[in-house]
Amino acid sequence: MENIYDLIIIGGGPGGIGSVVEAKELGLGKVLMIEKTDNHSHTIRKFYKDNKRVDKDWQGQEVELEGNVDFIDGTKESTLDYFDKLLDDELIDTRFNCAVEKVKKEGDIFHVTSGCGVDMAKNIIVCIGRMGKPNKPSYKIPPSLRTQINFNLDKCSNGEKILVVGGGDTAVEYACELSETNEVTLNYRREMLSRPNPTNLVMIAKYEDDEAVTLNLGVNIESLESEHGQVKVNFSDGAELFDRIIYAIGGTTPKDFLSSCCITLDDMGEPIFDENYESEVEGLYVAGDIVFNSGGSIAIALNHGHRIVTHILNRRK
Ligand SMILES: Cc1cc2nc3c(=O)[nH]c(=O)nc-3n(C[C@H](O)[C@H](O)[C@H](O)COP(=O)(O)OP(=O)(O)OC[C@H]3O[C@@H](n4cnc5c(N)ncnc54)[C@H](O)[C@@H]3O)c2cc1C
Repeated sequence: MENIYDLIIIGGGPGGIGSVVEAKELGLGKVLMIEKTDNHSHTIRKFYKDNKRVDKDWQGQEVELEGNVDFIDGTKESTLDYFDKLLDDELIDTRFNCAVEKVKKEGDIFHVTSGCGVDMAKNIIVCIGRMGKPNKPSYKIPPSLRTQINFNLDKCSNGEKILVVGGGDTAVEYACELSETNEVTLNYRREMLSRPNPTNLVMIAKYEDDEAVTLNLGVNIESLESEHGQVKVNFSDGAELFDRIIYAIGGTTPKDFLSSCCITLDDMGEPIFDENYESEVEGLYVAGDIVFNSGGSIAIALNHGHRIVTHILNRRK
């Protein structure tokens, strides 16, 4: 039994960090967090712009923290620093650069197969998020435009004419940030922006008033074409040329991965779980963004960790 973990956590984002910290704080025993990339919080590192404001009540969802992680409003950098400190202080057993491939239960024990071999555990939390595969539009992206069609800000340079597509906080924040050095239009298919939190709604109204960002609301994109190296966007009310498009329209459920972890999916392809986030397999849980088909936040993911670890401990009694 010595080599069997009490808990293995798959994914080192907020859901994983919340789970592993709660497990240590509440005395769950031997725990391991496995992360695919070379550091924790890959979604934050890859999709948040530098110095991004990080809101605890993201997308206007007010969340009371239930566990031992004291997450507050801050920036991308302060959030990552705080998570670094938590992982260091709790002497968390972590394994990076290690992608989990599948989970199988044999008797009472889970076998976790990854690029690093097979590990065994009594309980598993799967929290790999949704941003491994960002959502793509339903219309075709011409292959010649691939480098100009992006899902984060990595490839943007200054002086470009950029279209940001989406109606949530991320789209608003991307549009405002890019407008400092670019000509930016924000397109959303609905007439009004209702999903962003109050701070971002005030911010985008100000950028629009200052003519820093052009709002193009209630208009659908029907198709994209390549024209002289630019992206021709065929809106439902006419066409316009851009140098680049940034889609900020969320991420997809990692259905194949969940199935290879023996997590049953419903008719919509979403994981089935109960009020304790336990899947149909006893001891196998889901946490963080994969629990929602849209939405989710850092604070919500942290609370999932607390709830699940408490459930595992209560079951032991
Ligand atoms: C641009 C943007 C801005 C946002 N701003 C805010 C904000 O201000 N405030 C807020 O509360 N929320 C914000 N969010 C939402 C927040 O980032 C998510 O709700 C949160 O990161 C979800 O945590 P998670 O642990 O479920 O998933 P993720 O953060 O996506 O973490 C999943 C982790 O699992 C790893 N992983 C994936 N596959 C495997 C595998 N096979 N094996 C091992 N590891 C794997 C990934 O590399 C990643 O590190 C924002 C999201 C985006 C995209």
